[in-house]
Amino acid sequence: MINIPKGTKDVLPANSYKWQFVEENARKVARLFNLKEVRTPVFEHTELFARGVGDTTDIVNKEMYTFEDKGGRSITLKPEGTAGVARMFIENGMHAGVLPVKTFYITPCFRYERPQAGRLREFHQFGIEIFGSKTPDTDAEVIFAAQSFLNKLGITEIALNINSIGCKTCRAQYNAALKAYLEPNLADMCETCKARFDKNPLRILDCKEEKCKSINENAPKIVDYLCDECASHFALVKEYLDGQGVKYTVNPYIVRGLDYYSKTVFEFVSTKIGSQGTVCGGGRYDTLIENLGGASTPAIGFGAGIERLLLLMENTGVEIEDTTKPTIYLAGMDELSRKKAFELAMQIRSAGISAEVDHMAKSVKAQFKYADKIGARFVAAIGSAELESGVCNLKEMATGVQTAVKFEDLITYLK
Ligand code: ATP
Ligand code: MG
Repeated sequence: MINIPKGTKDVLPANSYKWQFVEENARKVARLFNLKEVRTPVFEHTELFARGVGDTTDIVNKEMYTFEDKGGRSITLKPEGTAGVARMFIENGMHAGVLPVKTFYITPCFRYERPQAGRLREFHQFGIEIFGSKTPDTDAEVIFAAQSFLNKLGITEIALNINSIGCKTCRAQYNAALKAYLEPNLADMCETCKARFDKNPLRILDCKEEKCKSINENAPKIVDYLCDECASHFALVKEYLDGQGVKYTVNPYIVRGLDYYSKTVFEFVSTKIGSQGTVCGGGRYDTLIENLGGASTPAIGFGAGIERLLLLMENTGVEIEDTTKPTIYLAGMDELSRKKAFELAMQIRSAGISAEVDHMAKSVKAQFKYADKIGARFVAAIGSAELESGVCNLKEMATGVQTAVKFEDLITYLK
C-alpha cells in the first residue's frame, strides 16, 4: 500500500463539513469587509519567495519545497499567501487602478517542517491582503476582520497580541540598541541567531530555541525606539481597537516570521493547542511591493491557519453543526417502490432539497438504519400500499413524529 506523505492529511467525508464551516465563514467575513477573492498559482518562481518572504527567514532558509522543473526553472510551492498576491498586484498594474485593492484567499501552503500537532507540511490558510492604504484605520480593520472571523467560528479562548516594529528609520536605531544588548550574549545563542546578528538582528527575537528565548526576554523594546510617525500610527491603531472594545496586549517582542513587515504586527494566540499556539498572524508590509519591483504601495494583511483553528475548536469544545445532512431519505420496499422512491428523490432535488435513496439493494430495515446513520431529517418508506394511495408516512427522525403526506405535497411540506 502507498501511504500519504509525511506531514499531510486527508479530509475525510465524515469531517469535511467542518472545513466547509470554516471556509464559509471566511467568505462571509470577506463579504462583510468588501474583500474580493483572488487565486494565485500553487507554485511560483523561487525568486519571488526569496525576495518576498526574505532570505533571513526560517521559511526561505529551511522550509521551502523547491525543485527544478523540466525546463530548468527553479520553482517553489507557495509557503505562504502574501508573496503570490503581491506579485499578482504588480504584474497586473493594479497600483494604477482604483485603490485600495482589498483581497482574500483560501489556499494550501507548503513548508518542509517537522510534523507535530498543528504543524504540517501541507496546511491551509485563510488570508487577507489590502493594498494602497497607509492609514491606521486599515490596520485596525484587518484586525477586526480576523476577530470577526474568530467570533463567527465560536472561538473565544484566544488572545490578541500587537506590536509595532517601526520603519526603516527607527529600525536602524533599534537594531543598534538590540545588537549592543545581544553582543555579549551571542556566544550562548544558537547558530541561526549568530548568523542573523549581522544580517537581520530583529529576526533573533522570533527564535524558538529556549536558550535564545531567555536571552531575548530582557532585550530592549522596539516600541521605545519608534520615530514620531510610527509612534503616532501605533497610537491611532490602538485608539481604533479601544473604540471597538477589542482586548489586546502590547507584546514588544513579536516580530512575526516574515522579513517584510513594518509598523503594526499582530498575532492571535491560544494556550489550548500546545506549543504551536499562533492561530493567526499578520501585519503591515509597506515596502514589499517596492522590493518586488512594483510602484511603492503600502499594504497590510493576515494569514490564519485552518488546521490550527480546527484543532483549537476541537480542544475547546466548540461544536460545529453538520449542515450537509440530507433532508429526506426515501426507502423502497420492493422493486416498483424503489423506482418511485428514486423518482420522488429526483423531483425533490430539483426543488433544491437534498434527498437520498438506497444504492446498495438493502433491506428496508437496513435502509432505515442507514438513514439514521447519515442523519436524514425525515424518512419515508414506500411500498405497494403507498404506491396505491399516493400517500406516504413521513417520519421526523429527531422527534419520531409521523405525518401522512401525499407524494405531490412532499416538496411543499419539506420546504
Ligand atoms: P509558527 O511560529 O507556528 O511557525 P509562523 O510564524 O511560521 O508560525 P506564519 O508564516 O505567520 O506562521 O503563518 C500564518 C499562520 O499559518 C500561522 O499562524 C499558523 O496558523 C499557520 N501555519 C504556519 N505554519 C504552519 C504549519 N507548518 N502547519 C500548520 N499551520 C501553519
Ligand atoms: Mg513557522
